[in-house]
Amino acid sequence: MFVVQESIRNSIHQLKHAQTISDKELRVLLEQSNAATDDMLFSEADQVRRERYGTAVYLRGLIEFTNYCKNNCYYCGIRQRNTRAVRYRFEREEILSCCEEGYTLGFHTFVLQGGEDPFYTDKEICEIVSAIRERFPDCAITLSIGEKPRESYAAYFRAGANRYLLRHETADASHYSKLHPAEMHLSNRKRCLFDLKELGYQVGSGFMVGSPFQTTDCLIADLRFLQELDPDMIGIGPYLTHADTPFSQYPNGSLALTLRLIAVLRLMFPHALIPATTALGTIHPNGRELGLKAGANVVMPNLSPVRVRKWYSLYDNKICTGEESAQCRGCLENRIRSVGYEAVTDIGDVKRS
Ligand code: SAH
Repeated sequence: MFVVQESIRNSIHQLKHAQTISDKELRVLLEQSNAATDDMLFSEADQVRRERYGTAVYLRGLIEFTNYCKNNCYYCGIRQRNTRAVRYRFEREEILSCCEEGYTLGFHTFVLQGGEDPFYTDKEICEIVSAIRERFPDCAITLSIGEKPRESYAAYFRAGANRYLLRHETADASHYSKLHPAEMHLSNRKRCLFDLKELGYQVGSGFMVGSPFQTTDCLIADLRFLQELDPDMIGIGPYLTHADTPFSQYPNGSLALTLRLIAVLRLMFPHALIPATTALGTIHPNGRELGLKAGANVVMPNLSPVRVRKWYSLYDNKICTGEESAQCRGCLENRIRSVGYEAVTDIGDVKRS
């Protein structure tokens, strides 16, 4: 026991100073850390985050503008074949009015997220993006609308989008094929991420923690893939069950392991923008606060109108489905302050040095 603790402490030190450790050390850290070593891990991660970003927590206004999706990811509640999902999509004006409201509340990043909804052609996405760009020239526009051809990403970028979120979900090809139907391939997901980066986007990737069939080897592969991609943003959250998916019988991922991974990510990627995600807030009432204390420095409150909130249901029991944007904003600001950080309204670009 003592020997393991001592070697975990050494690994944490090394991770902090060299931003990497061996697969073997990662395995011990992920599998055998306990309350004492977790405390040390979180406090080292917090120190690294404070050195780079101070106590700032960046706010991103999330607009879940469509829950139509042509895909059938086995874990996701808005998969096409879930006939029980109530579907909605926003007209351009409705997206703009969410941005308007967000801007008034002090947001300088809008994240347009949705299922892969063919209703929005590239032309339509470009028109939406340029309308936002024109009205809010001092804001970052983030898209999170899935896998597209390189030319489409290039067109969105020209229209004014500057960030893109696309989690790789798992970097282990055989695990990937257990989470997705045969027509989806890890290789294409990776192709998308490298295209986005080359095109000049600030890129966010990430994975679910505790998704069905995930092993420690999968998590190590995730970390190694992220080292190769070197993204600006890294979003992770626990896998959460949705009753109307093929994975309805699989349990939620673990809060403890998610927090440990947030801290590991902070030590490996000192520059990264790491959100304390809604999934983290769903698995535990103070999950997001715990995420911030473990190294996260972004929160993404919802700007969608309350009438659609409950329908963007990726997993069961999602939080914040009943509150207006202004309430969410105020609630989060208090939560952030309660753990010693400060919600800031800057655009919040990545700090590479
Ligand atoms: N269609 C877009 C947006 C997907 S939703 C895309 O493909 O990128 C955003 C993220 O929610 C996904 O990348 C996935 O990691 C996460 N997610 C989906 N279902 C989930 C579940 N059941 N539990 C936890 N996270 C989930």
